[in-house]
Amino acid sequence: MIINCPFCNIDRERTRILSMGEKVFAVLSNPRLLPGHTLVIPKRHVEKIADLMQDERKELFNTVIALQKKIIGKIATGCDMRHMYRPFASESKARVDHLQIHLLPREVNDFLKDIMRLEKKMWTALVPSERERFTKLFSKK
Ligand SMILES: [Zn+2]
Repeated sequence: MIINCPFCNIDRERTRILSMGEKVFAVLSNPRLLPGHTLVIPKRHVEKIADLMQDERKELFNTVIALQKKIIGKIATGCDMRHMYRPFASESKARVDHLQIHLLPREVNDFLKDIMRLEKKMWTALVPSERERFTKLFSKK
């Protein structure tokens, strides 16, 4: 448990807890990007998925799957899933080191479409040298 971590010290008054499991809980994100923006968070303070124990991974992904099923169809047509690990970023209200999986209910005309449109222009073709570099790197044990 980290003293200044908002997820280790979840504010139950301010935060709407959606589910509380043995090792994982889910809350409505506050602040949020879109209505229904949900966070799935392990109770133990870890920074990235690889730091989770096997039983935590299982409960985390089972919780993500259960909430994604509720989001799709009941709240929105689609759902983005995000996890950011950015130790290079400066501390801010929007950056918390405690692992959190973001579930974003998505619709064709939500405001994130403009960001996606911008991102679409940034995509570039995978060149052979890059493909070779990363294929070698990722296939090493
Ligand atoms: Zn924490």
